[in-house]
Amino acid sequence: MIIKISNLSEGDHEFVFEDKVGLLELDNPFYGKFKSSVLLNKLHDQLILSVKSKFKVKYECDRCGTDFKTTLLSDYKMIYLMNETPEETDSINVSYLSRDADKINISTDVREFALLAIPMKKLCTEDCKGLCPTCGKDLNREQCNCINAEIDPRWKPLLNLKDKLNLN
Ligand SMILES: [Zn+2]
Ligand SMILES: [Zn+2]
Repeated sequence: MIIKISNLSEGDHEFVFEDKVGLLELDNPFYGKFKSSVLLNKLHDQLILSVKSKFKVKYECDRCGTDFKTTLLSDYKMIYLMNETPEETDSINVSYLSRDADKINISTDVREFALLAIPMKKLCTEDCKGLCPTCGKDLNREQCNCINAEIDPRWKPLLNLKDKLNLN
């Protein structure tokens, strides 16, 4: 994913890349093709890139264990500075280019930001009911008769009372 920057005029430029995720050395949960849209703004010795990428991913739901497919969007900005003496920077969004650089390769950044975009929690649907902790049934598909809910302590006196009444 190389962008030629020699002879680039000042202002906005757009680039689109479409390829297989293997090109970025991404595998599971990524699959198939991805697409990155790059908006490059050149201003003197500075290039600002806004990169939006769309990936296909296959996850296993954290609650019910079902495999599902979805799209993963990743979005980042990178500022490239043409500077002969790169300064120390902690910012992950600033890169330095030598003055005679004629191209930039965004593959590594697209890859890194794609990995960062993977959510911690992966759910097949927002309200996935998950598996019953007692019998293991997928509660999205069927109901079971297990009682898993913790009994609200405020109801305990009433339940005790009910037991007593039943005994009598
Ligand atoms: Zn689920
Ligand atoms: Zn159950």
